[in-house]
Amino acid sequence: MVRNRYIASLVALLATGVLAAPAAARVQAAPAASQTQDAGARASALVAALTQDEKLQLVHGYFPPMADRTPGAPVADMIPSAGYVPGVPRLGIPALRESDASLGVANQVEQRKGDVATALPSSLTTAASFDPAIAFAGGAMIGGEARAKTFNVLLAGGVNLTRDPWAGRNFEYLGEDPLLAGVMAGEHIRGVQTHPIVSTIKHFAFNSQETGRMIMDARLGEAALRESDLLAFQIAIERGEPGSVMCAYNRINGDYACENDFLLNRVLKGDWGYDGWVMSDWGAVHSTEKAAINGLDQESGQELDRAIYFGQPLTDAVAAGRVPQARLDDMVRRILVGMIETGVMDAPVVATPQTIDYAANAEVAQRAAEAGIVLLKNEGGVLPLAGAAQRIVVIGGHADVGVLSGGGSSQVRSVGGAPIEIPLTSGAAASFARVTYHASAPLAAIRALAPNAAVTFVSGDDVQAAATAARGADVAIVFATQWTTEAQDVESLSLPNDQDALIAAVAGANARTAVVLETGGPVLMPWINAVPAVVQAWYPGQRGGEAIARVLFGQVNPSGRLPITFPRDAAQAPRPTAPGLAELKTADAAASNPGAGSAADLQPFAVDYVEGSDVGYRWYEREGRKPLFPFGHGLSYTSFAYANLEVSGGQQLSVSFDVTNTGSREGADTPQLYVAREGSTTPRRLAGFTKLTLKPGETRRVTLTAEPRILASYDTALPGWSVAGGSYRATIARDALDGALAGQTTLSPQTLKP
Ligand code: BGC
Repeated sequence: MVRNRYIASLVALLATGVLAAPAAARVQAAPAASQTQDAGARASALVAALTQDEKLQLVHGYFPPMADRTPGAPVADMIPSAGYVPGVPRLGIPALRESDASLGVANQVEQRKGDVATALPSSLTTAASFDPAIAFAGGAMIGGEARAKTFNVLLAGGVNLTRDPWAGRNFEYLGEDPLLAGVMAGEHIRGVQTHPIVSTIKHFAFNSQETGRMIMDARLGEAALRESDLLAFQIAIERGEPGSVMCAYNRINGDYACENDFLLNRVLKGDWGYDGWVMSDWGAVHSTEKAAINGLDQESGQELDRAIYFGQPLTDAVAAGRVPQARLDDMVRRILVGMIETGVMDAPVVATPQTIDYAANAEVAQRAAEAGIVLLKNEGGVLPLAGAAQRIVVIGGHADVGVLSGGGSSQVRSVGGAPIEIPLTSGAAASFARVTYHASAPLAAIRALAPNAAVTFVSGDDVQAAATAARGADVAIVFATQWTTEAQDVESLSLPNDQDALIAAVAGANARTAVVLETGGPVLMPWINAVPAVVQAWYPGQRGGEAIARVLFGQVNPSGRLPITFPRDAAQAPRPTAPGLAELKTADAAASNPGAGSAADLQPFAVDYVEGSDVGYRWYEREGRKPLFPFGHGLSYTSFAYANLEVSGGQQLSVSFDVTNTGSREGADTPQLYVAREGSTTPRRLAGFTKLTLKPGETRRVTLTAEPRILASYDTALPGWSVAGGSYRATIARDALDGALAGQTTLSPQTLKP
């Protein structure tokens, strides 16, 4: 069983100190062995007791907003949300009540009037914390709220690697590195599932861009697939054991993800031994027999598909023997295993929503933002502000009312409501996304921390007025925003609406200017040389204003590190803009939008991922391109030194070294272990990391053990992972370009199962 393997691997990792699991990870109790061993047997017994109609009912689910189109739909039992699958009460099988939940219990376009939830910062912020405990805490918080709101399935766990800086959903993902993304996704899912809730992991796999996501064909060779996005999924599934895997919209090497034999049968269920169920993304099913035979277990949001493929057509296909009865039984068994292993089967949802401690949960959101905000640049001691400034001007970004969030199915209507909510008039996201701010005003938070200063606000709409205000202030803080959303990629990495001109004008008027970026991911910074301080605040969630202010004033010593490379210009990235963007822009929103019906008639287009497994920083190293800010980069108000490196090899590569806080403030550091084989042209890879808080002058010895699959290459002939014997270079670094401490060791050749 996956779970048993997971426990064994977790014990091994903790024993070696790899990944320095947080306290929360260590105390998390595993489910009773009898429960996990029984899950398969229990599920099989239930399958034997189900009628054929009951089985067929479990393998397809409703999209509640459109369920009334389907005759006989039990609409009264549905919560307005993403999904619903009726249960089988006579056998104690509960209905599945599904909500989106990447960043909190979602409530897109306020389909449940007045129902608020705690909004975490974007997942990319969580990734930037480089702290598995932050990911775990966020998941546990969402799981608790979801249960209280009577959900038992969360559509969470987005872990597609951020291959492109312009991709619209980067904010929902965990960055470009498979180890970081896999660990963080796994911990998030583990957190969710500390409650009796199924978490998904999504979108399996290679849904790397939004443009044409319903039709595009991601092309990569098998080794490159295994060493990049699939490795992130593999690590996350081992760590988090999600009850379900959501297959993606796009095609991979020709076949749709939800009918992809290689992906679902061979890799996921075969090589990885995954025993839960594969549910489709909403509107991602294109066939009955091919999908069923190639590994899809449940059709989700059926009203969004061209037909209810797993409804009557599946009934007929099984009756005619075109889909074996054994396969239908396997589909149902997997659904039940996922429900049993997560506790959903034995914990019926409460009849009415329960009280939620929103104040406590807001603290979780704030801690995540504080841990993930990245200080990109800080020259001349502009930050922290700490009392020195008497006249502070805050400019732009609607900082007087709130902080921006990303759009799409992950949209949380946060506690405090949406002070700004702008509907879209066109584009693929128009039917389900609005530009939404959380009610957490940086301006108010700044005023609270500077009670004796004169803090003024100008909107930034008038560049000259902003420059004038900046000229008369001790310090100017410009808030710049970039809205991104599911279903659309950004057309340019430049900040929209002339914000570059605003920043340049303010920086020209006041040498003490700090820029705070609320963006989905990387943006271009043509003004970087003129601005002494830049804070990357991502989409910082419902306590973002407070978190930003505390970083600006030094109450929080920034400790975030970039989980994604910031290019100097778009041409540095593997693809400067989204493939298909120009062609599809005016052609058909259906290519990116599940709500627009089927895109089956549109011609798929291929995207050849030229970087292969050298995603992100490895592409930049391979191509000799120096980005604006590298992966792993992030400053602090204190400084850290590394010393006394010892590297050991043999069967596994481990490093030990001292980290010292050489500054005068307490702060947290994230030493990163990068490894490359000597003499190989393969760029170095992040093979381990940890985050530790040190007092001024304090030294701590850290031991990290490299994740072996990061050192290996995937050998399709073997098949499996192959670590070549020989000499390896291990570097302890501050970021992907740094080389603070380097050593060498010899590893014995080794192979590992796929
Ligand atoms: C998204 C998924 C989401 C689903 C249900 C899809 O459009 O890609 O991430 O879980 O909708 O809302």
